[in-house]
Amino acid sequence: TPTIRAAIVGYGNLGRSVEKLIRSQPDMELVGIFSRRPELDTDTPVFPAASAADHAGEIDVLFLCLGSATDIPEQATGYARHFTTVDTYDNHQLVPDHYAAMGEAARAGGNVAVVSTGWDPGLFSLNRTVADALFPDAQQNTFWGKGLSQGHSDAVRRVPGVKRGVQYTIPSEEAIAEAKAGRGAEITGASAHVRECFVVAEEPGAASEEAIREAITTMPDYFAPYTTTVHFITEHEFERDHQGMPHGGHVITSGDLGGSRSSVEFALELGSNPDFTAASQVAYGRAAARLRAEGRTGAFTVLEVAPYLLSPVPLEELIRRDV
Ligand code: NDP
Repeated sequence: TPTIRAAIVGYGNLGRSVEKLIRSQPDMELVGIFSRRPELDTDTPVFPAASAADHAGEIDVLFLCLGSATDIPEQATGYARHFTTVDTYDNHQLVPDHYAAMGEAARAGGNVAVVSTGWDPGLFSLNRTVADALFPDAQQNTFWGKGLSQGHSDAVRRVPGVKRGVQYTIPSEEAIAEAKAGRGAEITGASAHVRECFVVAEEPGAASEEAIREAITTMPDYFAPYTTTVHFITEHEFERDHQGMPHGGHVITSGDLGGSRSSVEFALELGSNPDFTAASQVAYGRAAARLRAEGRTGAFTVLEVAPYLLSPVPLEELIRRDV
């Protein structure tokens, strides 16, 4: 099979992870990166985003690694007119609008647009649909975490006496057990999650640390309704253990199957959110290029992409190996 010629638009956390992962794919080569900035710290050829359409003939799939807040709504359809694309658009409520707009643009350009890949949306969406379809009356819960929360980490750093701080949101083990037992209907945000903070104090010592702990755990809205633990660590430990962007979560579905109960769980533990989101986007990028090569056009969500299209391994071998 011919090598898939890939390019990236947008070079933030996700773009850097996609660049790294394309290099380790057996069937892909990276043609270049399009950016709004004139210079990027990379060995890959960099082109102005405004000139992207000039390169349309050289690229089989364009990875849209732009922000979901404004970039994707403003720019994604423009790219879909010229390229087969794959994105990680994550505004769940607006996914149907994005899917419709990308479908129209991709069909007009004779391209494929695979939308809202990643993990949520993305692999979690797939698992919500598959698991729900198994039960006539499914009880389903999605839990997010362990994950680094930017907003809560900022709140911790604003507490007097805090030199450095980070906050992880972690699903509560009891809530997960309740969900598995089919009692997930009553689970709320505060009962489903606990918060864990790692803090470097400006002045280490019991008195200052107790004041910081008190200020964090009683902070209204951010922490007060939650079970919060605060760990004090050294600057060295902070540098060593808390620079990554971990995330993850669970989709838990359970139900009655005519007298017996069963539950299905899909869990992710991600060392780096952008690396894993990129891993999903790269696999769906392969699928986008293959759908286009088969003559398909228009937009596809993860629900519509056959799983074998994600893999560089030929279908016959997958059937022998995995079915
Ligand atoms: P970033 O904020 O790092 O990057 C977004 C864009 O901002 C880039 O494409 C880049 O465009 C520009 N940019 C990046 N760094 C700089 C800088 N230093 N100065 C100026 N501009 C910069 O976002 P992420 O890469 O972390 O995330 C991208 C999207 O991925 C998110 O919006 C989120 O929606 C999505 N996502 C989806 C997930 C899923 O599971 N579906 C999970 C995680 C994220 P340019 O190069 O043109 O300047």
